[in-house]
Amino acid sequence: MTAVSIAGVTKVFNEGRPDEVTALSDVDLTVESGQFVSLIGPSGCGKSTLLRLIADLIAPTLGDVRVAGKPADQARRDQEYGIAFQQAGLFEWRTVRRNVELPLELRKIPRQQRRTRAEEMLALVGLGDFGGHYPAQLSGGMQQRVAIARALAVHPNLLLMDEPFGALDEMTRERLQAELLQICSKMHTSTVFVTHSISEAVFLSDKVVVMSARPGRITTTIDIELGERNEAVRQSTAYFDHVTAVRKALRS
Ligand code: ADP
Ligand code: MG
Repeated sequence: MTAVSIAGVTKVFNEGRPDEVTALSDVDLTVESGQFVSLIGPSGCGKSTLLRLIADLIAPTLGDVRVAGKPADQARRDQEYGIAFQQAGLFEWRTVRRNVELPLELRKIPRQQRRTRAEEMLALVGLGDFGGHYPAQLSGGMQQRVAIARALAVHPNLLLMDEPFGALDEMTRERLQAELLQICSKMHTSTVFVTHSISEAVFLSDKVVVMSARPGRITTTIDIELGERNEAVRQSTAYFDHVTAVRKALRS
């Protein structure tokens, strides 16, 4: 089963206008079920655009996007995925708990079950005591963790994340990386993850997709074979070799 399948996708913004931009050119990408795939590349190379195409927030100019074997718009209607973007995007008038419950409300999950699931997810991201707070009472990093809890709350088959850990301190970031992997493997979630961090991409991924700017293209795909991820992996030679390989691919 294929989680995401992108074939010959080109995205042109402002087509035919003086400010026309080709954000992506002829992109092919396959994410197998249960795979963790990172997108990495210079700012403006089209990483967010690619993620937004998968989420059907925008449509391709050319080419085909499929999620769980369905056209992207059908997959969106069927709510096949959870999304966590760089901006936490929380509703200020809802408590933290009710922000996490929102996607469950949309799926008509009964109240008690919603509540239990939201508490579970908040505990997972280390915010078990903050369910009754409002977003404005939390730091930026804490708000981001709420957004991650919300994305995970529905136990989605596919998780789309756009630099979700960018604003976090290194310690929190490493802890959430390990937790994210545990959740994804436990729930057999497929993930497409955008990051600026080479080490983060290598630690998390089965496959790192390296992109180049103007127009955005996939230049290299690197398979990461590090076995089970734990803290020892971060110190291993194989890990550093993969980091070097990704860095070289980014430079060439
Ligand atoms: P990245 O996430 O890799 O930094 P983006 O996908 O955000 O890059 O952007 C890729 C290119 O497309 C950039 O040149 C950006 O300015 C352009 N772009 C993105 N979104 C839009 C939009 N809605 N309208 C016009 N240009 C856009
Ligand atoms: Mg971006």
